[in-house]
Formats: sequence, C-alpha cells, structure tokens
Amino acid sequence: FFITFEGGEGAGKSTQIERLARKMRAKKYDVLVTREPGGSPGAEAVRHVLLSGAAEPFGPKMEALLFAAARSDHVEQVIRPAVERGSIVLCDRFLDSSRVYQGVTGGLDPAFMEALEEVAINGMMPDMTLILDIDPTEGLRRATARRGAGDGPDRFEKETLDIHQRRRDAFLAIAAAEPDRCIVVDASAPPDTVEDVITAAVFAALEA
Ligand code: C5P
Repeated sequence: FFITFEGGEGAGKSTQIERLARKMRAKKYDVLVTREPGGSPGAEAVRHVLLSGAAEPFGPKMEALLFAAARSDHVEQVIRPAVERGSIVLCDRFLDSSRVYQGVTGGLDPAFMEALEEVAINGMMPDMTLILDIDPTEGLRRATARRGAGDGPDRFEKETLDIHQRRRDAFLAIAAAEPDRCIVVDASAPPDTVEDVITAAVFAALEA
C-alpha cells in the first residue's frame, strides 16, 4: 500500500508522517517512510543539486526532468520493492508536487508534464494521497518559525504569496479531479486533530 503526503510549505507533512508511522508500527504494520525529492541514494544526490544554489542556472524544463529522473530511481530502487514485499510506504511529496510546482507554477506544458509523470512513476500510482491544506500565510509563518534564525534564506522565501496561493488551488483542483485517490485534510487544525483525521482515513482504507 502506497500513501503520499502533499501540500504547501509549513503544512506539517513531516510531523504527521512521523506520527502516522509510529501509530502504524504500534499496530505491527511494516512501514517505510521516504521523501521526495530524494528517497534513494541517486535521488538524494539529485535533491542536493536541486535544492542548493547549484540549480540557479537551470530552466524549469531541466528542473522538471531532474525531478522526474530522481522519481524514477526512487520508484524502482525503493518504493516498488517495498510495496511488493508488503510494506506500507509513506512518502513525503510525490507526483502531485511535480504537477503543482513544476507544472502549474513552473508554467510547463501539461502534455510534457504528463509524459514525464508516466515515465517517472511507471505505473506506481499512490493508493492514497493526503493533501494537507493550509492557508499559505499561515503555512509560511510556520515554516519560517520552524527554520529558526540563522538558517539562511530558503528558496520559498523569494517567492510571492500569490505563487503559494496558486499552488494551494492546484492541489485542491487535483483532489477534486481525483476524489478516489485524494483526501484533503485541514492542516490549520491543531496537530493532534490533524493526526486523528489522518489516522482514521488511513486505517479505514487499510482495514477495508
Ligand atoms: O517537502 P519540503 O517542503 O521540504 O520540500 C522541499 C522543497 O522542494 C519545496 O519547498 C519545494 O520548493 C521543492 N519541490 C519542488 N518540486 C517538487 C518537490 C519539491 O519544487 N516536485
């Protein structure tokens, strides 16, 4: 079973993934937690390039190709083998982040993005996608607080609020278009409440 977590900055994905993994392990599920970009040694190397200053000269198309290359490696080296041996895979960001970050706010051609997606996932569509939805003003406030002083500027600090709003709308549009796969979770609620909502949805699906 393959579950992905999506959402904008400061939505609390990593906190919620950790909490869910702990609960699942307590119930004796075999859980693998992973993330994108990255998740396999090759993809982590690409992550470093993408999220460091090294990617400054890259155009959006090159970035999208690198995200796809990293995803393909992650799928074949880590996700598919784990799902095939019966693990529950929890992945922090996956194809919807590419649709939103590279496709919508990166302005790339939808047909190009679809082709890349198909090659990268090679059939490994998530069984369930939890979209952690939060107002970007609140999300950015949380993300900034979390990083703390002295961490230096991050990519998203240079982006306008409007871009974050467009990403939020794009995630919600995906959820509306694919209601069988996607569940929107109100991530502005207290962490314990968000955890309860996620736990209920996931266990209902697993135990169905
Ligand atoms: O998951 P996290 O919020 O740490 O994401 C790291 C960053 O990677 C995001 O802020 C986003 O800028 C970038 N990213 C991206 N395209 C993706 C996945 C992540 O631009 N497909």
